[in-house]
Order: sequence, then structure tokens, then C-alpha cells
Amino acid sequence: MALFSLTNVTTHSRRPLAIIINKKQKTMKNLMKFIGLAFLTMTLAFTNVDKKTIVIDVGHGGQDNGTTVNGFDEKEIALNIANKIKELNKNSNVVIILSRDSDKFLSLSDRANQINSVKPDFVISLHANATDNQKENGKQIFVSDKNKQKEKSGDLALKLFYSFKDRNVEIKKADFYLLKNVEYPIALVELGYLTNETDREILTTEKGQYKLAKSILSVIK
Ligand SMILES: [Zn+2]
Repeated sequence: MALFSLTNVTTHSRRPLAIIINKKQKTMKNLMKFIGLAFLTMTLAFTNVDKKTIVIDVGHGGQDNGTTVNGFDEKEIALNIANKIKELNKNSNVVIILSRDSDKFLSLSDRANQINSVKPDFVISLHANATDNQKENGKQIFVSDKNKQKEKSGDLALKLFYSFKDRNVEIKKADFYLLKNVEYPIALVELGYLTNETDREILTTEKGQYKLAKSILSVIK
């Protein structure tokens, strides 16, 4: 009886112990799962909130010089400024993609497809202007009502407007191909007139190009 009793006690005392260990293991497992999930959620939250993908659409290229004044090609000016925007960006959460990083031709439909495929947060298309009137100067920012995200495109245009700290900046509406066919917020900027001496000085010098690049980057950040 005494022996039976002892066996019985032993058996009883082992069972709860085993259950306790199992419970502890389960708790630890759940805790690890929870920590893992929390970490994943935090990572995703940071990825979603902070990471930005911006496309700088570099106007013209290849056989398409854009406008040419005094030997200065619009396609080259656009690329120089785009490269400076990329160079000045020190924020690792902002990924800047150029639609072209060399002197190559891209059709408008290729550009639109390429831009849409990277699903950017927004797009800024860079251009320079020209006109017969050499006195005409200043910048224009174009947006389209036919853009799928026209409100956000409008916000982008407004941010660009203030970033330039220039007295002569206009926001205009135009249904240009890219403005209509890019499915993300987009503004096209004419950064000045190559036919105007003052604007040309800004568009074609390192100092002027860095100034423009800084203004555009301030919108991106
Ligand atoms: Zn152009």
C-alpha cells in the first residue's frame, strides 16, 4: 500500500511537472512568434512609411536633342541636372530612378511603361524651354487633369512651385502624353528658357544646375 501510494504520488507529481514544462515551452514559442511578428510588422511599417521611389524623367535623348541654343542641348541639360539630383540625395530611404542615365532615345510610350512598372511615389519630368522672344524667362510646371492621381500631381506641382524661389514660375495644365499616361503623380517642369541669357546661365553652368537640383531635391525629401 505504501509502495503503491509512493508510485502514485510520483506519477502524480511528474505529470504536472511535465505539463508545466510544456506550458513554458509553449509560452516561449508564442513569445518568440510574437517578437518575430512584431519585428516583421515594424520592418514593414518602416518600409512602407519611409521608403520612397522617385522617378526623374530625363527629357529627350539620342537623336532627339530637344531644343538647342548656342550649342547647348536640352537633352544634355536635363541629364546633367538629373545626375546632380541623384548625387545630392543622401537619404537612403529615397530611391531616385532616372528614366535614362545616358544619351539614348526613349519613346514616350517606353517612358510611360518604364515609369509605371516601378510604381513610383511620384515623377518629375525635366525639360528646358525655348522661344523667339529672348526676353521671355521663367519656369512652367505642367500637370494634367487626365492623370489618374491628379490631386497628388497638383500637390507635387505646388511643392515644386515653392521650391524654386523664383518670381517667375507658373503652374499650367496640359495633357502631355506622359502626364496622361503615367499612372502616378507627375509634373513636367520647364526649368527655364535656353533662349534667355539669364535662364541660360543657370541651365548651363554647374552652379546653376546644382541650384536647380537642390530645389527639386527639397521636394523629394
Ligand atoms: Zn523638352
